[in-house]
Amino acid sequence: MKIITSIFDLNKEIKDYKNVGFVPTMGGIHAGHKSLIKASQNKKGKTIVSIFVNPTQFNKKDDFKKYPRNIKKDIYILKKLNVEYLFTPNTEEIYKFKAKKFQLKKKDKILCAKFRSGHFEGVLNVMNRLMTFIKSKDLYMGEKDYQQLYLIKKFLSKKFKVRVNSCPTIRVNSNIALSTRNKLLKKNSLRKASEIAFFLKKIKHKSKLNGSKLVFSMSDYKKKLEKKYNIKIDYLEFRNEKNLKLNNFKNKYRLFVAYNIDNVRLIDNF
Ligand code: AMP
Repeated sequence: MKIITSIFDLNKEIKDYKNVGFVPTMGGIHAGHKSLIKASQNKKGKTIVSIFVNPTQFNKKDDFKKYPRNIKKDIYILKKLNVEYLFTPNTEEIYKFKAKKFQLKKKDKILCAKFRSGHFEGVLNVMNRLMTFIKSKDLYMGEKDYQQLYLIKKFLSKKFKVRVNSCPTIRVNSNIALSTRNKLLKKNSLRKASEIAFFLKKIKHKSKLNGSKLVFSMSDYKKKLEKKYNIKIDYLEFRNEKNLKLNNFKNKYRLFVAYNIDNVRLIDNF
């Protein structure tokens, strides 16, 4: 595996490859990331993984500081997976060029965009830069971060003529979605997160449509869960899978949740 830290070296290395699959990550490589890498490797071309903990997408300094990092372990895992390229630039390298700034419209300020001011602007900013350098035609991203996937498709897929391949959420036996942030959770919180995930999965399963309306109110469940587990839920909402709207559930829909436990913010969807 070639480890590349500069845009100059990156250009030199991959300029001749037409089929580079790109898997952007913030490291702490786990089975969720591995599934994206495998999906890329199932195509013929080479795979480039990036590890960059992007400061502009953290709306809290402390969250950025305590985000789990373990580059040595990540390199070990990526080598074992036979990844061809790892791009691991520093912040200066990524932000040394001027680039378009993204602004979300009011209608996109929902779910995490409502609770993490500037977060997705930061995500779009860094993805715009990474895509400019890497010029991949195939991007692999997880449904675990469904709103991120939705916004990348909306804002960047046309500009870069890139296929955004969405990959299903990988969970552990306890039903918790894998996430680098899980490393920050205490045992007791992992148990609670597991129970919450099982419960929400059940709710999704039980949910019923009446015409295009959902006969289900989540506000009672939200209160009950907050009380039972002593957590703060930012949102617990069913939304249309295609446009993330709150109504018209004729198409597929998902149950979206974000909550804080142990001072760690977890998101998931079912
Ligand atoms: P992150 O390192 O958390 O920024 O995630 C990098 C990519 O991996 C994103 O496209 C995520 O959606 C995806 N990802 C993270 N966790 C999972 C998971 N449990 N299952 C599938 N994809 C995931």
